[in-house]
Amino acid sequence: MHRSILRIILGAKVSTPKEILYADTDTVPTTLRRSWLTRKYLIQLSIKPQNPMYETAKLLYSIKKDYPKRSSPALIHEMRYIDQLGIATFEGTPAHFSTYSYPLHPDRHPSGPSGSPFQKKSAVADHRAVAELFSSLNNQVPEETLRILTDGAKQQTTNRTTCAIHIPSLEVSRAWTLMEHASIFTAELQAIYQALDYTFKLDEHVPAVAIYCDSKSVVSSIASSAPGNNESLHGVRETMASLKASGTLTTILWIPSHVGIRGNEEADRLATRECSSPTGTRIKINLSPSEKISIVKTDWKEKVLLNLKNCHKPCIQSRKTTGLVRWLYHKERCVTVCLKRLRSGHNYLNAFSNRIDQGADPSCRKGCEEIENAKHVLVDCQANEPN
Ligand SMILES: [Zn+2]
Repeated sequence: MHRSILRIILGAKVSTPKEILYADTDTVPTTLRRSWLTRKYLIQLSIKPQNPMYETAKLLYSIKKDYPKRSSPALIHEMRYIDQLGIATFEGTPAHFSTYSYPLHPDRHPSGPSGSPFQKKSAVADHRAVAELFSSLNNQVPEETLRILTDGAKQQTTNRTTCAIHIPSLEVSRAWTLMEHASIFTAELQAIYQALDYTFKLDEHVPAVAIYCDSKSVVSSIASSAPGNNESLHGVRETMASLKASGTLTTILWIPSHVGIRGNEEADRLATRECSSPTGTRIKINLSPSEKISIVKTDWKEKVLLNLKNCHKPCIQSRKTTGLVRWLYHKERCVTVCLKRLRSGHNYLNAFSNRIDQGADPSCRKGCEEIENAKHVLVDCQANEPN
């Protein structure tokens, strides 16, 4: 049923292998799709102890027994698969985050993340204006404010995530390496957390601290009213509350990156250097659900591609990733259908008709003696040349 619909959409012949149908529509067989959705569901469930399904799932997880094939509970297979990937789900009770009601109300609390007059697009276009605007704004910040610049970095080749802080007035530069598979989002948050923590642990009293971060999503998520499920986010909010209680005003500002703002370049350099040669200072926190889901997704996509490669047609074997290939689509549907039929080899040319029915004539319908296949029609056939 599923596949016959795909065939109608693609205008593919009945003989077209199913892998080509899936690859060309960027869909997957129902069983694979179910696996992906179940794994995602389990990871999300594992942080929600208030969910009615939580206890059942946890119990199921803790019973380590072999079920007979036909009567094993539906979730157990995927549960063990996630386990095998080294991702923690139901081992412990999910971290209990503080009961503070977030965010701090802006009218009552002067501290908190704030926006920035910069716009990313114009900032990238005009570096100097931004650097000047930044320094003039920076001069307006009260003298006694402790300014800290933060940054995070991720290196794709080594899969290493790092964060760094830089305090120009105290000449402090520090960098940390995060746990494996941590996202850049977590790294930026951790950098802010480390900056706040550093301020909190200072011996002398700091009346105000301003933290400059170059990730807009991080700044807005700290200010957001959504509780969020990233451990670092809670760390940041808790420390902000503690600082406030001890009389330090916190401001978190977004600044555009890579536009020549001095301290930011330094923080960026620190984080990048930590990526290539780690200093050994490590931060150990739990992966957030979205980081776990992204590990599962990467693994799942590899399996999907492997599954496609069961088909030995060149149009499948040449694929490096799943997903739609842009140039195979034309705004005229008939052109797209024609292209796909030619690529798959399952088309209405005489060579293919001959493969199905030995009695059919494989030679060119335009009268030449050649076999009528895709190459002949597109490249060789003289009858198809425009005059
Ligand atoms: Zn011909």
